[in-house]
Amino acid sequence: MKEGTERKLIIDGKRLDGRGFEELRPIKIEIGVLKRADGSCYLEVGDNKVIAAVYGPREMHPRHAQDAKMAVIKYRYNMAPFSVDDRKRPGPDRRSVEISKVSREAFDPVIMKEYYPKMAIEVYVEMLQSDAGTRTAGINAASVALADAGIPMTDLVSSIAVGKIDGEVVLDLTGVEDNNGEADMPIAMIARTNTITALQMDGHLTKEEFKRGLKLAMGACHQIYELQRAALIERYSKSEGREEKKRD
Ligand code: ADP
Repeated sequence: MKEGTERKLIIDGKRLDGRGFEELRPIKIEIGVLKRADGSCYLEVGDNKVIAAVYGPREMHPRHAQDAKMAVIKYRYNMAPFSVDDRKRPGPDRRSVEISKVSREAFDPVIMKEYYPKMAIEVYVEMLQSDAGTRTAGINAASVALADAGIPMTDLVSSIAVGKIDGEVVLDLTGVEDNNGEADMPIAMIARTNTITALQMDGHLTKEEFKRGLKLAMGACHQIYELQRAALIERYSKSEGREEKKRD
């Protein structure tokens, strides 16, 4: 539970990195960055740097974990030990298990799992550099990597966090803001249909703040959706992406 600290995060109406309250950090998306993956994406949101790799659909192992009616989605979020200031202990921990579960569930409504009974679709999200909002950056990258792998989906999923710092509701918290702020609320959604597929909250928001934050986050997801779409269109319209990738 967040308490907030004495550290000032808003000075003269601006945040410490110069952004306004409703401003996203710069986002960069690159597709097809890994040769061995069926689909991949490198994505930056400010100082977050993440790679998502998708494998499959391929046979699910162990066999007893297969689902006779649909594919099983495996989602592994991992934060590299060197991705944060104080080296993080390598390997899975409670946090990464929770983030993997929530992120997988964010894709449940869009992936057409029934097309691939007994198969597995594997999503690996590796944080190379972390500065808060890593689960949401990971979901954005995974969404594009799934599309790059040609996994049938009804739509893309887009994701961002809103939070509260110095009593103000703001978009897309940095690490300093997250550590010293009063609340952090990541969401994931299908932007085209305004369907929320994941929502978490750390800290406390009033009902009004929650409503304002949700509206802000939903607006930002629409912006992110356009960036994801534009990156996919660019990759596939110019170079007939998948064909070219196979020939590499
Ligand atoms: P998210 O990255 O999705 O916002 P958290 O709120 O759990 O998830 O983490 C916020 C930030 O705190 C991370 O992006 C990272 O910069 C930092 N952080 C999280 N866990 C660790 C850790 N074990 N060691 C060092 N820094 C961490």
